[in-house]
Amino acid sequence: NIVYLKGQFMASEKATVSPFDRGFLFGDSVYEVVPYFRGIGFRLQEHIARLEHSLRAVRIQADTDWAGLMDELVQRNGGGNMSVYLQVTRGDCGSRSHSYDASLRPTVFACCAPVRNFAAVPAEDVVGISAIVTADLRWHRCDIKSTGLLPNILVLQQARDHRADEALLLRDGVLTEGTSCNLFVVRQGVIYTPKRSSDILGGITRELVLGLADANGMQYQEVDIDYDSLMSADEVWISSSTRGVVPVTRVDHSPIGSGNKGPVWARMFELLARYQQQLMTGE
Ligand code: PLP
Repeated sequence: NIVYLKGQFMASEKATVSPFDRGFLFGDSVYEVVPYFRGIGFRLQEHIARLEHSLRAVRIQADTDWAGLMDELVQRNGGGNMSVYLQVTRGDCGSRSHSYDASLRPTVFACCAPVRNFAAVPAEDVVGISAIVTADLRWHRCDIKSTGLLPNILVLQQARDHRADEALLLRDGVLTEGTSCNLFVVRQGVIYTPKRSSDILGGITRELVLGLADANGMQYQEVDIDYDSLMSADEVWISSSTRGVVPVTRVDHSPIGSGNKGPVWARMFELLARYQQQLMTGE
């Protein structure tokens, strides 16, 4: 298992960071997760653009060839299907102080993890998941992909304690997203999703889903979704880079719609799978 740390590729056992690294001390760092299928980055440029947005927003300057770094890491790990985790911290400040010197050198770390190719799974084999709805405990800049994930961890564990797979987050009476995914609901054939704001992460898969909807004559709207419209929806789905689109068939222990995967989800799942397959094989 080869990782990248501070300019070098090395075995994961050899990778160490200082306890005074601000990523460790303060969560003063941002990250990206990029799926690779058949050794090719899926929507790589979009992920890099989002990483650069996060870096700019927290004023970390790291001039790195991100695509080159990730491509090489995947190759060194044997290529195929995997996801790259990439983290950039503000750097090692040598002591614990909140304020920082702008001359700090960022710490760049990247590693690979196995990922399932969601496009290779037949729609009938996809299993609907369950979710709970709970308060969105996060800060006001959820558009930044910060490694400060304590609220996400706590609410996901709360879901697990309720034997649910995901937590959907409620802020000021409207749903924002899941702990590591965006949210969609379907009513009378129309797809609804919360609009982009600093309350949600601009998901790469979310954009792709809306693009595919547009290109295939499926209606969608970016709107506020409250608890009642979630619970009375015909379908609920979540999306993320490593999971694709996944139907949520139970929320707060109640079935959504028929309690089964819905037809609009099935259509989007096929469109996403076809898009991904075409990109990977050129067919
Ligand atoms: N929302 C949050 C909070 C996330 O952490 C993620 C991804 O991890 C997403 C949404 C989905 O984003 P993407 O489709 O880019 O993976």
